[in-house]
Amino acid sequence: MKKLRQNLKQLFCPLAGILPFKMLRQFANRDLLVINYHSINNADPDPVINKNIYRSVEEFEQDIKFLKKYYRFVSLKEVLEGVAGTRKLGKKCVLLTFDDGLRVVYDKFRPVLIKYDISAAVFINPCFIDNKELHYQRKKNLILHTVTTREVEEKKKHWKTIFAEQEMYSQNFYDNVNSICYKNSSLLNDLSALFKIDIDKYLNRHPIYLSSDQIEKMMEEGFYFGGHSMDHPNYDEISFNEQLRQTLESIEWVSKKYDVNYKVFAFPLREHNIPVELFEAIKGQCDISFGVRGMGPDTINNHLQRVEVESSSMKIEHALKLEYLKYMLRCLVGNRKYRRKNLVK
Ligand SMILES: [Zn+2]
Repeated sequence: MKKLRQNLKQLFCPLAGILPFKMLRQFANRDLLVINYHSINNADPDPVINKNIYRSVEEFEQDIKFLKKYYRFVSLKEVLEGVAGTRKLGKKCVLLTFDDGLRVVYDKFRPVLIKYDISAAVFINPCFIDNKELHYQRKKNLILHTVTTREVEEKKKHWKTIFAEQEMYSQNFYDNVNSICYKNSSLLNDLSALFKIDIDKYLNRHPIYLSSDQIEKMMEEGFYFGGHSMDHPNYDEISFNEQLRQTLESIEWVSKKYDVNYKVFAFPLREHNIPVELFEAIKGQCDISFGVRGMGPDTINNHLQRVEVESSSMKIEHALKLEYLKYMLRCLVGNRKYRRKNLVK
């Protein structure tokens, strides 16, 4: 599968270079394009996350200029009405979304969006709002980068006991930390206490996430907000009931706290393995949900797929051309719609 993807990339890249953008957009014939972003290049205090490829503010503005030329920006409200059938969206529309509710959305993306009079939807994790908690992967990175080899040696007896309680017996401290997953992430709090890493202090110094005030201000400015799970677990790692809880509680939290009359949700990470049953279970409590699988439609009518261009390091024109080509190939092989499995076979 990986090889096939590489071969396709080798074939598509030169094709995307030759074919005109307008022609691909027309052939693909998709009315609504949804593009998702997370962060800005070199803006994260976490050195691991900071290595990820994002747009710079200037590059993001270039994206906007390009999109403005070829599409009509729409708000989440228009998309909600389009999906509900109370409004016709029309052709060549684009909606922007931002996952993870990071502070850079307020500091860096928002000024550009306001400059071009563009609304967007932001998906947040209630546990992290106001910098009350830190995502477990970030805690891992913090521990791995803060604890020195001397401290590891000095406190060997203590950390060995902490890991042994979870039946993790690796002799290497760093391997143990690396193998911590969402389910046993409370270990990270024990380790932070052991090595005197003050997470609250870290969050105070580096407010990574949006604050309630910033969200309220953005709402007044015409931005929309939705749930992105309570604390961003990998849904592949948690039970169906926990998936349901994380989904519904985050949708409810946003709608109650900000008294909004819409309910939207973006799945954290991949949603390839989310069973049909989860979509059935949230029906009526979620107007639209979002994934990030590409440009095509989904078998679930109110589940919209998005494309990510930020991590490609390509100019948006090229990245979108590739997405259009991938979508057209899916159509050619009779696989136009994204599907998913049933829990009960
Ligand atoms: Zn996310």
